[in-house]
Amino acid sequence: MCRDDKTGLKAIIAIHSTVLGPALGGTRWKPYASTDEALTDVLRLSRGMTYKSSAAGLDLGGGKAVIVGDPATDRSDELLTAYARFVHSLSGRYITAEDVGTTMSDMDFMSGESPYIAGISEAKGGSGDPSPVTSVGVFSAIKATAQHLWGSTSLEGKHICLSGVGKVGSALAGHLAAAGAHLTVADVVEASAQRVATATGATVVDASKVHSVACDIFSPCALGAVLNDVTIPELGCAAVVGAANNQLERPDHAEVLRAAGIVYVPDFIANAGGVINISCEKDPGGYDRTRAEAKVAANVARAVTEVLQTANEKNITTAEAADRMAEARLEAAAGTPRIRTFPKETEKN
Ligand code: NAD
Repeated sequence: MCRDDKTGLKAIIAIHSTVLGPALGGTRWKPYASTDEALTDVLRLSRGMTYKSSAAGLDLGGGKAVIVGDPATDRSDELLTAYARFVHSLSGRYITAEDVGTTMSDMDFMSGESPYIAGISEAKGGSGDPSPVTSVGVFSAIKATAQHLWGSTSLEGKHICLSGVGKVGSALAGHLAAAGAHLTVADVVEASAQRVATATGATVVDASKVHSVACDIFSPCALGAVLNDVTIPELGCAAVVGAANNQLERPDHAEVLRAAGIVYVPDFIANAGGVINISCEKDPGGYDRTRAEAKVAANVARAVTEVLQTANEKNITTAEAADRMAEARLEAAAGTPRIRTFPKETEKN
C-alpha cells in the first residue's frame, strides 16, 4: 500500500510472483469506489501477468499496480514522483509500465526517478507504442493456428474477420492483407473501418454482426467479453484469435467453444506481443525493434502451437492448456528460488 499525504497519492502495488524474474505489469489509474475494489482488481491483474509472462516464455514474474483516483484531475509531477519512489523502493522486484489511465509520457517522466520503469518512448531509448508489435504477435498466432487447422501457415485466400480496427486491429489488417487473406472488418467508429477497407480491400460490416460472418478466423481486437452466451452460438468461424483482453465473458465459455468445435486461442497467449516487446527494453545493448518483432513472432507461435496440441492431446480446453503450460514453467523454476532484480540497483537509465 503506497500513501503520500502531501501529494494525495493512494496506490497499491501487487507482486504475485517473482519465481521467473522481476514482476512486470502496468499501473492502472482509475477512480475505484473503495480500497477493497482496488485491491481485488490489482490482485487479479497481477496474477494474470504471472501467467501471461510465463506462457510467453519470458523470465519475468507477475505484478500490477493501481493508483486510486482520477487521472484526468489528479495527475501532477509531484504525485508521479512520489509513486515512482515507491516503485523504486521495491529494488526492482516490481517493474511498472503503462496501463489504462497512465501514459507513455508518465513512464518517461518517472524513468527519471527509477530504472524500474518500462514502456518508455523511443526518444528516451524505450520500446515506444507496443501496438504495432502486438499486431505482429497476433499475426503470428493466426499463422500458427492455420498450421494447426489446415497444415500450413499460409493465409492466402483465407477469410478473416476483424472486430475493432484501432491501433492493433488496423496494423494486423495490413499484415493479413499482405499475406493474401480476404478480410471483413468492423468498428463502432465507421470511418476507421472504411479507412482500413480502403487500404486493404476489406469488406465493411456492422460492428454488431461481425462475429456471425462465415469465415475461417474471427479476430476480436476491440473490447472484452465478446465471446458470450449470445455470440458463441452465432459464430461462423473455425477459430477465434485476437488481441482483445478478457475475450471470454465467463471462464466456462472456453468449454462452450470447445463443445462447438471452435478453436479458441486464449487472449493472453495471442496478445503477449505487448509484454514481450516491453521486456526487450532490458535486452543487453538496449531495445531493438527488429529483434523485438522476431522474438514476439517466435514466442507467440511456439506458445500457440503448444497450447493447441496439448488441448487436443489431453482433451481439455485451450484455456486450461494455456494455464497448465504457464504453471509448468513456474513449477520447474520454483525449485531454484530466486528474486531477480533488473537492472542492478546501482544502475540508472
Ligand atoms: P484501440 O482503442 O486503439 O482500438 C480499439 C478499437 O475497437 C477502436 O477502433 C474502437 O472504435 C473499436 N471498438 C470499440 N468497441 C467496439 C465494438 N463493440 N465493436 C467493434 N469495434 C469496437 O485499442 P488497441 O490498442 O488496438 O487494443 C485493442 C485490444 O487489444 C484491447 O482490448 C486491448 O486491451 C488489447 N491489447 C492491446 C495491446 C496493445 O499493444 N495495444 C496489447 C495487448 C492487448
